[in-house]
Amino acid sequence: MKPILSEDAKETSIPGHSGKYYGFPKQGGSSQSFWLQCAAADELLNHITTANLPLAADLVVIGSGMTGTLVANHYIERWPERTVVVLEAREFCSGATGRNAGHCKPDQWRGFAAYEKKFGTSQALKILENEHETWSSLVNYVQEQDIDCDLWVGHTIDVPMTLEAANTANNEFQHLKTKGGKVEHIKVTSNSTLAAKISHIKDAQACYAWPASTLNPWKLTAHIMRTNLAKGVNLQTNTPATAIIPSCQNTGKWVVKTERGDIESSQVVHATNAYSSALEPTLRGLVRPTPHICQRAVPPVESVLHTDTLQHSYGVLLGNGSFYSINPRTAAEGSVLFGGDNPGQHEFDKWLQGNPSRCTDDGLVSFPSITKAVQEFTETQLGWDATNFADGESPICQSWSGIIALASTLPSVSNAG
Ligand SMILES: Cc1cc2nc3c(=O)[nH]c(=O)nc-3n(C[C@H](O)[C@H](O)[C@H](O)COP(=O)(O)OP(=O)(O)OC[C@H]3O[C@@H](n4cnc5c(N)ncnc54)[C@H](O)[C@@H]3O)c2cc1C
Repeated sequence: MKPILSEDAKETSIPGHSGKYYGFPKQGGSSQSFWLQCAAADELLNHITTANLPLAADLVVIGSGMTGTLVANHYIERWPERTVVVLEAREFCSGATGRNAGHCKPDQWRGFAAYEKKFGTSQALKILENEHETWSSLVNYVQEQDIDCDLWVGHTIDVPMTLEAANTANNEFQHLKTKGGKVEHIKVTSNSTLAAKISHIKDAQACYAWPASTLNPWKLTAHIMRTNLAKGVNLQTNTPATAIIPSCQNTGKWVVKTERGDIESSQVVHATNAYSSALEPTLRGLVRPTPHICQRAVPPVESVLHTDTLQHSYGVLLGNGSFYSINPRTAAEGSVLFGGDNPGQHEFDKWLQGNPSRCTDDGLVSFPSITKAVQEFTETQLGWDATNFADGESPICQSWSGIIALASTLPSVSNAG
């Protein structure tokens, strides 16, 4: 098998990452995300289309997250007469897609400087355009198909919280403007008093607001997979692919090995995200699985500021790369989801460095520094009065982890052979 990304391996590998971080999806003992909990009674989670694995298929997709589900969808729509098998190691869509923070937030300015440094001005501008087009197509698709996935469309607000973060944001925004970036749809508020009023975040220094969405990612992916099944796609959950080897019988074909049998196919798509380096060793050192924790909080009813005031989605920029992503599910059921690289993440990352075998452990919940940071933020910045919780309890009612695929460059689509 030809190695993936062989030529670029040195340039693109993660600095200081020796390739010791990889693993297959954890079997048993995963945490329960909010989205998977909502889907707990859904038969799709453990769907097996045929009791036996097919011996052969035109396409085998490994992974049933958003990527694998969409690949199967495009393929079956283009070639309805062909056969497709989707293998999923655990329950349907139980990886990052079923565990994320629910934001569909096109990057419209913040990543520009970094993209420009890596890929040049015109590519960086194209990336921002592509982010907007992708978001816009997604919203159209959900609305046209009337998909039940709690879609919210409104303004997301990025909120720098320190003078330094506000200066950095302002410099980056002005830089994008001078390079001809589209910024008319981004509403900027530089006055801190007004920013705090708009965002309902006490120490807000500025606001950058532009159109974005939140949704239930499991429901959206499930809708697409159900469409796939109706078109003849064969979904096999709880069936990890353990290896892929060239076929001895048919030159140019592959054999995907599982404990339930083998499938031969001329095309195999790895849609395995953070786990890709376990199945494809040449990716070790390039794709690093890293657990991230999300917290779900319920504001106190008596609180002066509660969810009704959090009418947007937020990126709270704390400086030094730390940020909270906030997804208030105001219209859906009133809880608030916290994700992102909060100030407690640093300590968590340090712990993970000492525990590399936990890099694919999505059973991790409630790491103390992360929980503490969210709790402090709700008290000091949102005004959630802790004394309003029974017995001094925390507003955090649920915590889960998902595994992010860290890489030193943008996501890539590559041919393995
Ligand atoms: C905590 C967290 C918060 C996030 N928040 C956001 C957010 O708010 N907004 C956003 O846009 N993005 C967010 N992301 C990122 C986003 O969720 C991912 O980029 C996206 O879901 C990736 O989709 P995917 O289908 O490629 O991978 P996944 O959803 O991870 O799917 C990969 C699938 O492959 C399966 N698999 C792996 N190995 C095998 C094998 N050997 N055999 C069979 N099956 C296998 C896995 O079980 C899994 O189901 C977040 C991620 C995490 C972890």
